[in-house]
Amino acid sequence: GHTCPLGPLQHVDMDGRRLCQTACPLTHVLADGQPRQADILLRHRDGHRVPVRVSVRPVRAADGRITGAVETFTDITPLLAVERRAAELQHLAFIDPLTGLGSRQYGERQLESALSELDRYGRRFGLLLLDIDHFKNVNDTWGHATGDAVLRVVGRTLSGAARTEDFVARWGGEEFLVLVREGTIPGLESAAERLRRMVAAASVSVPGAEIGVTLSIGGTISRPDESAAELLARADALLYRSKELGRDRVTVAP
Ligand code: GH3
Ligand code: MG
Ligand code: MG
Repeated sequence: GHTCPLGPLQHVDMDGRRLCQTACPLTHVLADGQPRQADILLRHRDGHRVPVRVSVRPVRAADGRITGAVETFTDITPLLAVERRAAELQHLAFIDPLTGLGSRQYGERQLESALSELDRYGRRFGLLLLDIDHFKNVNDTWGHATGDAVLRVVGRTLSGAARTEDFVARWGGEEFLVLVREGTIPGLESAAERLRRMVAAASVSVPGAEIGVTLSIGGTISRPDESAAELLARADALLYRSKELGRDRVTVAP
């Protein structure tokens, strides 16, 4: 003796919008005979909302006329919990726990998507690889925990100095990667110099000393039709060049 809109279930979609008047899956199936599935929320007797997957199939008379529909409800609370956990784990894999920067895995993804934007829209970008100079000395002199503190400060300095549209990842132990939305050599060089100077000016305080580090940087501009590996290898060779030339410097080349 109840009709759906007046009944106790009060279904809403996952964004909390009432479904009865405009988006009721049952009404649509009755109208066009196409089976449908939707994730909705029903009102529990105790007042809270229960996530439910509803499947609707038409019921037809012998002549094919639609005479009704059957709705099947499945409680999907456990399924949503699994999906949410998977999303959390994905998030964790994308964050480097020590520095809070993007992880290497996230950096690889960002690099791939920058390369596909280059193929599609011709947008060139700069890639920087940055490596802390003589970092082993920091660990050897001050201990691993202080080394970690230095890595955090360098990470925070880089993300503070980068532009919002740029992307910074911890690429390895004491190596970082920066994607710079800048397709020219002078632009990339000045971005890299800014990062180098900022890190050189930062330090970590320990009793009786201020620990500072410097960066060697290699930078290059993406080329159309090249792979991530080719681009990284070029930046890595330029980083190596900065080390050879005496460290605490930027080497940028096309
Ligand atoms: P170079 O100027 O040639 O880069 O010298 P380097 O000492 O920085 O280079 P090397 O690659 O020999 O040493 C890197 C050191 O970074 C070795 C390793 O113990 C340290 N390291 C890597 N990851 C971490 C980390 O997460 N925490 C700390 N504290 N140290 C790390
Ligand atoms: Mg290194
Ligand atoms: Mg190093």
